[in-house]
Parts: sequence; C-alpha cells; structure tokens
Amino acid sequence: MSKRKILVTSALPYANGSIHLGHLVEYIQTDIWVRFLKMQGHEVHYVCADDTHGTPIMLRAEKEGMTPEALIARVHSEHFNDFKGFHVHFDNFHTTHSTETRQFSEDIYTKLKSAGFIVMRDIEQLYDPVKNMFLPDRFVKGECPKCEAKDQYGDSCEACGAAYAPTDLKNPYSAVSGAVPVKKSSEHFFFSLSDTRCVEFLRRWTREADHLQPEAANKMHEWLGDADENKLSDWDISRDAPYFGFEIPDAPGKYFYVWLDAPIGYMGSFKNLCDKSQLDFDAFWKKDSTTELYHFIGKDILYFHALFWPAMLEHAGYRTPTKIFSHGFLTVNGEKMSKSRGTFITATSFLEQGLNPEWLRYYYAAKLNASMEDIDLNLDDFTMRVNSDLVGKYVNIASRCSGFITKRFDGKLVDGDEYHQLQQMVDDRFSSWRPTAIEKAYEDRDFSVAVRAIMKYADEANEMIHELAPWEIAKDTSRDKELQRVCSLGIQLFYILSCYLKPILPETVKQIESFLNCEPLAWPTLTEAQPVSSLLLPAGHAINSYKHLMTRIDAKKIEALVTANRRTLTATTTAKPVNNAAATIESIAETIGIDDFTKVDLRIAKIVNAEHVDGAKKLLKLTLDIGSEQRTVFAGIKAAYDPEQLKGRVTVMVANLAPRQMKFGMSEGMVLAASNSDAGSGLYILSPDDGALPGMRVK
Ligand SMILES: [Zn+2]
Repeated sequence: MSKRKILVTSALPYANGSIHLGHLVEYIQTDIWVRFLKMQGHEVHYVCADDTHGTPIMLRAEKEGMTPEALIARVHSEHFNDFKGFHVHFDNFHTTHSTETRQFSEDIYTKLKSAGFIVMRDIEQLYDPVKNMFLPDRFVKGECPKCEAKDQYGDSCEACGAAYAPTDLKNPYSAVSGAVPVKKSSEHFFFSLSDTRCVEFLRRWTREADHLQPEAANKMHEWLGDADENKLSDWDISRDAPYFGFEIPDAPGKYFYVWLDAPIGYMGSFKNLCDKSQLDFDAFWKKDSTTELYHFIGKDILYFHALFWPAMLEHAGYRTPTKIFSHGFLTVNGEKMSKSRGTFITATSFLEQGLNPEWLRYYYAAKLNASMEDIDLNLDDFTMRVNSDLVGKYVNIASRCSGFITKRFDGKLVDGDEYHQLQQMVDDRFSSWRPTAIEKAYEDRDFSVAVRAIMKYADEANEMIHELAPWEIAKDTSRDKELQRVCSLGIQLFYILSCYLKPILPETVKQIESFLNCEPLAWPTLTEAQPVSSLLLPAGHAINSYKHLMTRIDAKKIEALVTANRRTLTATTTAKPVNNAAATIESIAETIGIDDFTKVDLRIAKIVNAEHVDGAKKLLKLTLDIGSEQRTVFAGIKAAYDPEQLKGRVTVMVANLAPRQMKFGMSEGMVLAASNSDAGSGLYILSPDDGALPGMRVK
C-alpha cells in the first residue's frame, strides 16, 4: 500500500460556549477516521481551532468584565480539555485569533480583490443608538410579525417557526441595551459568488470526483439551479466596528466577518503545525497539490463549505478540498437536545460524572454511517449496548481466558505443534475474520458496519470458548496442553478484535497492548494468499496478567448525568425591553458547592405587618411570622411597595443571617427580592406557590 499524505479538519467550535455531546458526534467521527488511517501507516495531520471572532464574543467578554483575548484563552483551554477527555487527538488545536490566520485572510482577500471578486454595497441594518453598534440578527428581539409571540429573535420565531428579517419584528428592541433600534445604512464588502467564473467553477466542482456525498451534491444542484440560471447571491464578508476580529486591509473600521476567517482557520492551524514540526505547508495547499484534504462538517454549514469555501480557494490560487464529509445532528432519546429535560449534556459534565468517554465513542461509532442522517443517543439503549457489547462480549473474552494462561502456564501462549494446531483452528473456523471488509467500512466512514462485523466476530469467539469450556478442561491436569491451546486461541482472537477496535477505543486498547505485552497495534494486513492465522501473535508469546479493562455502565450514573444537566429555563441571558437606557443582567456569581448553599437557611415567612419608618427613605419595617417565631426586618423595598399591599403576603426570608443593628432598630434577617443592578429596573419580592406555610424551609 502506498503511503498517502492527508490533511483532515473538523469544523471550528465557536469560542462562546461549552462543547456538548452534539458537537462530539463530529469530533469523535473524525478522530476515529484519522486514527484508522494513522494505524494504516499513512501520513495524516488532523487540525482544528477555536473560532474566536465576532460580536457575541465581544459582548460576552464585556459582560464578564474581561478582554475578548482573555475570554477566548479561557474557552480554548476548556475546549482543549474536553477534546482530550474524549480522546479526540488533534495534531494541532489552534485559534483563529492568530498571526497565521490573519495572514491567510489578508492574502486570500487581497488576491480575490485584485481578481475582481470583491464588491462594495450599501446595506441597511438595525443599529443600537445607545450602544452605538450594528446589531446581529440574534441581538434584535421583538414580537413575531406572524404570531405576535413576544421576545423572539430577529431571524426566526421559536413559537411559530416563521423566518423573517429583523426589520420585520414588531416593537423591536436591542438585546444588548434594551433600546429601540434604528435603521442605518453602511457600506459592506461582498465576495461575488454570483460572478459567472464562480458559478461555472462550482457547477463543475460540485459534480466531479465525488467531492460531495450524493445527498449533498443534490442539494448543491438545487442551490446552483439549472445551467441557464444563476441563483447564487454575493456573500457579505464585512462587519463594522465595534467588532472583535481582523480589520480589513486599507479599510479602517471594517472587519472580516466569519466566512473570511473561520474556514481560513484550517489553514492557519495547519501553518502553525508546519512551523512547529518542519512540515511543508505548500505541499498541502498549493494549487496542484497531490495531497488529500478532507473537511468533516455538520450539515448546517454545507453551503459555506461546498460553495463559498472552494470558490474562494480556487480564485485565490489555492487547492480545493478532496472531499467534504457532512453529518447529521444528534438527538437524545429521539428528541432535540433540551436543557429543561437535561439532555443538553456538556462534555465536561459527562467526564465529571465519572463516565467512560469510550462508552460514548463506541455508541456513536455503532450508529454512524457516511450519510447526512441524524443520529440518536437513546440513553437506555446506550447503557444496554455498551454493557452487552463491550463488557459482555469483547472484554469478557480476555477475562475468561487469561487467568489460566497466567496461573498455569507462566503467561505463555502455546508454541510448537500446539501453535500449528491453533493456527489450523483459526483458519478453519475464523477465515471470515479477514480485515478487508472492516477496513473498507472504516475508510468509507461506515463505522456502524465495522462495529456490527466486529461484534459478530466477538460472538463467534465467545461461542467457541463456551463450546470448548476451558474451565472444564482445567479440572483434568492431564489435559494441560489442550487447556493452554484453547486459552491461547481465545487470547489470539481477542488480539485481532483489539486491532479492529483500536480506532474507536484508543485508551482501552493501550491498556490491552500492555496486557498483551506487544507493540502498539497497527492495522492488520493480509495479502490474498495469506490466511487469517498469519495475523496472530507469534508462537510462545508471553502476556502479562490481566487487569480489569472496563466496567459496566450503572444506569444510576446516567440518571445523575441528566439531573446534573437539567436547567430551568427561567434565566435569560439577554436584556428585556425597558423604556429607559441600559438594563444589564448581572453575571452569574462564582460556583459554590451544595455545602455553601445549605448554610443559607431560607424560610417561608408571612408578612403580618408592614409599615413606613420615620426618616427612612428606602426602608419598610416588616414583621415576619416564620412559624416558630416572629422577626422584625427592615427591607429596602419602599420604592416598590406600599405597606398595605404587603400585609398578609407570604414570601421568603434568610432566617439565619446575623442580626444587624440599624439606625431604626435591629434587623433580624432579610427578605429576598429580584432586581437588576441598575436603577429603575424594578424590585420584586418572591411568592411561593399556594400551600407553602410559614416556617417551611426553602431548599
Ligand atoms: Zn411566531
């Protein structure tokens, strides 16, 4: 087999949120494919980067009181640890906020501009007059123009599903400041995808050489239209200041928008790797490169990767991708991932709950194929399948056979005549175990086909062990040779299965390599003439004693995972409309443990009396009944409540706060109320549901 030179990418995660199990479908898919190709001995480079630019990152950094650079550095290290935790092994995990990406963005832009592919056009957008910035669609909210649902985003309605322009919203407001946005015009830069040179190139490119999966190629035909049509529109590649990103050369105040720096981040990350490891960047990216380039992406960004990206590369003088592999989305228990159901599961929480990341790698592999179909993580099925396949079938082979080898034969597998008999048994009974079919399934990204075949083999191995029953043979010491041969056969079969599973279970197989006392497992190869027995470990090979390889999934741990990810949807991260200027949501305080929380004794309290306090501008004097006793509390809620309104109401108080001497008397606790930190946003005391009685603890 000739050695291929291959560059592989996964889509860049946005540096504004955590990696979750939905993201991991793609990274695990790519990682398995890359590990398989590396096992075959090819030169493979797998790169990725955080996508770090844009308005959401700028605003989030501002809200958290840090620079965007500090924010993206923090997220980069979180993402890095999540990927590492799931054994997703990038050869380089870089950032788009890098010198390399800046250089390639400028280079590509300049080349496109001089070839006449950059055009300027005025466009009208909603502008926040308080914050002095143009608002991305997601930062404009208002009433849906179709169904009038309140607080909908500027691009689509979550209530009725309608899609529209932000300018169509009724009573729009800026989610940044709460101000009413105004329409403002500004000059934007466009990449002219509608240029006939692009259209002609893409018509050819999307059809030739299987660059795309069949379903993606059909989609492209739909987007490109028939030969006499031109359905493509130009792509807006600029944003106005304030913006976190790269300023466009010779255009002060104008910044590259995502499509002109995110995919280019693939090149930036690879350039960074080349500089670190003396690789030849041009060999992979120059126009006539003979190396292979593959992008794994979600189906939601197919348009950009199959149209915009190759057109841009082609006309800036670079090579275009060999293939683009697009996958579907993840559902959990048959539904969209949901924060309220606890199925929006973060990578970090999965690892923190002590779940084995290889369980998920295996389950995804068992479900993945080369199509763009969605895949479902059914949590019950996940538990059953991992327990039955990995623990019950696969690992079981080693644990059943290794004990006798260690105890009775000093760790030695059979040699001499016995080894020949063993080889004969393998070739008689396991001749179908040739690597060819599994190899093809991996190469074609039909991992589910590979997993099915491997588990069928594992069944065959277990049937044989069951039939030959080494535990019975062991009772008769005169049958030692036979016992050693049967157990050696089990171990040899386990060894072949481990080679086949290594791309999916890299960590478990690393332990197995140490157990089997062998070199890191490479992909098994056979010529047509060679029988399966030529794959086996050599005669008389000595193994180490067996150590526990994998535990079963405890269903309780899955329940705990879901509970840990369940969030109530009451908290909103963007501002509500207000009449006055800026309303800001305070950022969430530092994380505390449950112990910290339980220190606070919250009780249901009935307000039995409320009165004004002579000389106090802000305070009301409340008398609170908490079942066992009555408390006097001075509460700063005078601006929001008339004492008469409060009498008889039931609310929540902190009952174990140290009493505080105030000018008007002793305050024996605190009443809880909601507000924003800025003045004028209002103050709202809490009410429990009907049935809560004074003195009940809130926890
Ligand atoms: Zn609607």
